[in-house]
Amino acid sequence: MSADGADKGLADSPEFVGRRAQMFPQLTPAQIARLQAHGVHRRIVKGEILAQPGDRNRPMLVILSGSVEVFQTGVDSEVLVVVHTAGSFTGEMSTLHGIGSLVRSRVREEGEALAIPEEQLRAIIQTDAELSEIFMRAFILRRVGLIASQAGDVILLGSSHSAGTLRLQQFLTRNSFPFVNVDVNADPGVQALLDRFHVNIADIPVVLCRGEVVLKNPSNEEVAACLGMNQVIDDDRIRDVIVVGAGPSGLAAAVYAASEGLDVLVLETGTPGGQAGSSSKIENYLGFPTGISGLALAARARVQAQKFGAEIRTAYTAMKLDCNRRPYAIELKGGTTVRAHSIIIATGAEYRQLAIDNASRFFGAGVYYAATATEARRCEMKEVIVVGGGNSAGQAAVYLAGKCRHVHLLVRSRGLADTMSNYLIRRIEDSANITLHVRTEIIALDGAEQLERVTWRTALGAGEVAGAPVAPGAAEVAGAGETAGPGVTAGAAEETKAIGHVFLMMGAVPSTHWLKGCIALNDKGFVRTGPDLTAGDFASLNGTAPRPVQFFETNWPGIFAVGDVRCGSVKRVAAAVGEGSACVQQVHQELHA
Ligand SMILES: Cc1cc2nc3c(=O)[nH]c(=O)nc-3n(C[C@H](O)[C@H](O)[C@H](O)COP(=O)(O)OP(=O)(O)OC[C@H]3O[C@@H](n4cnc5c(N)ncnc54)[C@H](O)[C@@H]3O)c2cc1C
Repeated sequence: MSADGADKGLADSPEFVGRRAQMFPQLTPAQIARLQAHGVHRRIVKGEILAQPGDRNRPMLVILSGSVEVFQTGVDSEVLVVVHTAGSFTGEMSTLHGIGSLVRSRVREEGEALAIPEEQLRAIIQTDAELSEIFMRAFILRRVGLIASQAGDVILLGSSHSAGTLRLQQFLTRNSFPFVNVDVNADPGVQALLDRFHVNIADIPVVLCRGEVVLKNPSNEEVAACLGMNQVIDDDRIRDVIVVGAGPSGLAAAVYAASEGLDVLVLETGTPGGQAGSSSKIENYLGFPTGISGLALAARARVQAQKFGAEIRTAYTAMKLDCNRRPYAIELKGGTTVRAHSIIIATGAEYRQLAIDNASRFFGAGVYYAATATEARRCEMKEVIVVGGGNSAGQAAVYLAGKCRHVHLLVRSRGLADTMSNYLIRRIEDSANITLHVRTEIIALDGAEQLERVTWRTALGAGEVAGAPVAPGAAEVAGAGETAGPGVTAGAAEETKAIGHVFLMMGAVPSTHWLKGCIALNDKGFVRTGPDLTAGDFASLNGTAPRPVQFFETNWPGIFAVGDVRCGSVKRVAAAVGEGSACVQQVHQELHA
């Protein structure tokens, strides 16, 4: 799309017509005048390549005269996205934090541009409310457009039966990275791609990175490195604060700390969003009356943190915390170390697994720990099982009931009333295609490469028979009404079903293994802070804290814990966000002590 409408680009697709003015706004002379002090004038020469996919640290260009065309590149092609003319500006989210470009920009007509470096761009965004809104909105919408085009030179060759494929789909999707998904079982053009890049079916999942590098079953770290997803950061710099974990609590801490001028580094082993990122719809978070997907909430929070200058590294795992050195040091997977005056532990929790030997074999191949659109696509119109009695299980059951033929909700307890919010219980009651099975647990999973069959066992009380419907909200009579028949043993009924999709929503255990030997934990592994600490926790400090310990502070001064990882925290998004935000004030007190 050009300002004069002469060229049609991706931005002219029907889905963006209504938002084109926000995606590609024209700056007024007054706005351009305000920007002059932040950049330098430069000539742009016809045919000059201003950015290639993967290029880092590009300035944003405000076009003063002439024009610049932007292309999304494919393996052998380029698709026009837009033509920038005078008054328009280049860039999208990657421009703001110095990571690899997603597009190619080339000068179409000679002219002049105002080049604004990344640092200056961030300064404008933090200080000029009007321009900040224009730039941020345009950058976000441009990224959304690139993702929606499902085009580009990053191709994931995979199979809907492969766990590795699901992992990579989740990694790219949750990092808001545009990619082309090619299913080797369904895509007609796949053989040509396999031949061209000398790849066998046995190698999948394969990521074709920028149409050049072939990554066979790569780790998330390898994909992030190849695609330039992280900033190039000086590891020797000592930060004010390192936040470990980019779930709701860590992102909230990053937003508040960065917006208050602290030098913040965020480390995230997987993808920003944490557990909330795996929720299909969060309906109890203040300010979103119609609900918001965890993915959308996480994407907004990440952009907000980056807007204020927080550096977020994805696919970076904290392996060990060294409390004995000040500034504190965190050893990363791969051996490097990063250091900071204070640390915020926001590593939340990991999903609880089924206690069945072969369960991990089916992870991603029929067993899932999240119920978002990515997983739901694999089981459309099929029969599925959701395990768990908490809100996450209730949400998953309701969401999947809208996509799948039938949902079996399995709980070990006698009902949902004690563990699930009423609104979810009511929705489950109202869903004709959800069946609740109380006092029931999975005892076997079977299948070759993909999960094919599931066996569950329902405990029966004295005099009970199997099979009658159960009211979700009541403290039910377990397994009530089932007809004793084949598979019913004394006190239990076993049933095997040809079901290939199981969603495990059974709560979580704290991610604190990297803190062992350093941070005081409770008997379940959660971090103890403030009032939960005892004199014994300060043994390495001669039994006394150097000063009154703050509420979110651990047994080491300047090391804080927030969100689900903290003992006694309320395991909810709003609580995690609140703790992450509030903790920053305590970080300031420590830094200025
Ligand atoms: C499916 C589902 C649905 C939910 N729905 C709701 C809801 O509707 N409403 C509600 O209020 N709550 C809901 N919850 C609960 C809510 O998501 C959590 O309470 C919240 O996400 C906790 O945030 P957190 O930041 O403390 O931890 P987490 O969300 O667990 O985030 C921790 C982050 O730390 C990262 N991490 C862990 N270890 C390391 C390491 N060593 N190095 C680097 N990074 C690390 C993890 O990858 C993760 O991204 C739901 C939970 C689930 C699982």
